[in-house]
Amino acid sequence: MPIKRLLIANRGEIALRIHRATREMGIETVAVHSTADADAMHVRLADHAVCIGPPAARDSYLNVAAIIAAAEITRADAIHPGYGFLSENAQFAEIVEAHGLIWVGPKPEHIRTMGDKVEAKRTAGALGLPLVPGSDGAVEDVAEAKALAEKIGYPVLIKAASGGGGRGMKVVQHAGELESQMGQARSEAKAAFGDATVYMEKYLGNPRHIEFQIFGDGKGQAIHLGERDCSLQRRHQKVLEEAPSPVITAEERERMGGIVARAMADMAYRGAGTIEFLWEAGAFYFIEMNTRLQVEHPVTEAITGMDLVREQIRVAEGHPLSVRQEDVEFRGHAIECRINAEDSWTFAPSPGLVEHYHAAGGLNVRVDSGLYAGYRVPPYYDSMIAKLIVSGRTREGCIMRLKRALEEMVIDGVKTSIPLHQALMDEPDFALGDYTIKWLEDWLARRA
Ligand code: ADP
Repeated sequence: MPIKRLLIANRGEIALRIHRATREMGIETVAVHSTADADAMHVRLADHAVCIGPPAARDSYLNVAAIIAAAEITRADAIHPGYGFLSENAQFAEIVEAHGLIWVGPKPEHIRTMGDKVEAKRTAGALGLPLVPGSDGAVEDVAEAKALAEKIGYPVLIKAASGGGGRGMKVVQHAGELESQMGQARSEAKAAFGDATVYMEKYLGNPRHIEFQIFGDGKGQAIHLGERDCSLQRRHQKVLEEAPSPVITAEERERMGGIVARAMADMAYRGAGTIEFLWEAGAFYFIEMNTRLQVEHPVTEAITGMDLVREQIRVAEGHPLSVRQEDVEFRGHAIECRINAEDSWTFAPSPGLVEHYHAAGGLNVRVDSGLYAGYRVPPYYDSMIAKLIVSGRTREGCIMRLKRALEEMVIDGVKTSIPLHQALMDEPDFALGDYTIKWLEDWLARRA
């Protein structure tokens, strides 16, 4: 079923990213936008544009009825959800399919399973993925939780089954605080996600965050496209990502990649997905699966030469995967810096008018951004305004190239996280690739 007209149910850089791949495939695009985004770059470039509501996301980018109506009015035949917003909403995927539209995403039942972390862990375990030691399912009873914590050893982590963005997570150092921390995790989870279900995991002291990109055709074929290292995080939010990871050998990549690809083949997974692990002392521990395209997908594109959005659309059209595992080649290195409209050191958001804009260029430099001079960064949404991705033969070369490219970027009028990335480039630990998920926050605390 070839797609003729694709509706992009998102905004910002990812809407533009999807527009670009779609146009290159000769497919028309439909942009949907809130009143705050009427002047956005992806709206200007799209073949058709429909305003779907006021600025608040719940009235526009999360407004299912308005998005489906926009698809019907413009006679779109497919919907790409991007990341965030409705991308991991199984019910939305079902509604899209019930309207006879092609959903550029995984099967709704897989989105649902992986969206519930207790279910996701159970499924991952059954598929043979290594898990963080912890409860087998939800924990309810405090006495039962205490017995389990003794068995796996303190510290332990209480996590929300419906969690996301690091919310509803509580570290428990000893038995004395288990009951109160469990209670707090439950009430936070209830308030944030409407679901008080929690589970327990061993709290890993100093791991790295390493994730594998996978692709399935929905019929039992699946491949992996290697790993990304996303350990540089602040408040569980990724700041900089790279591929390959400085600590994973080619043999480990092949072994672990093989395990995740087989797992995805066994479940007949469809489209793009990411299997996230914590990695400590040479061992992988599954934490969650994201059933969508990730922000950091360009570093994988840079080292594999594949266009992941194009691949998503091809799979949604019913084509087989465009490459076999043995044809996937990993070349060189790539690093992505997330550039936010915020103060580099206080992290205070800085929306407003972009007076001057100049994107870095040159060999192996990619900027994914909807910015232009005269654009006003709206205050209503995520603060990420650009992604700077560089690639090269070596990691050292990438760091030199990033320093050069960061110098070239001009974003005047709003504060950005460019100074933070520049400072990071001068850090010996970063140059050595010697960092864990704790490193960035420790570094920021040392600088304060
Ligand atoms: P969310 O969906 O809320 O982002 P994740 O399960 O993906 O939750 O975990 C987010 C981050 O929290 C991880 O990248 C890691 O930094 C930390 N984390 C999660 N589980 C553990 C654990 N068992 N031990 C230590 N840190 C953890």
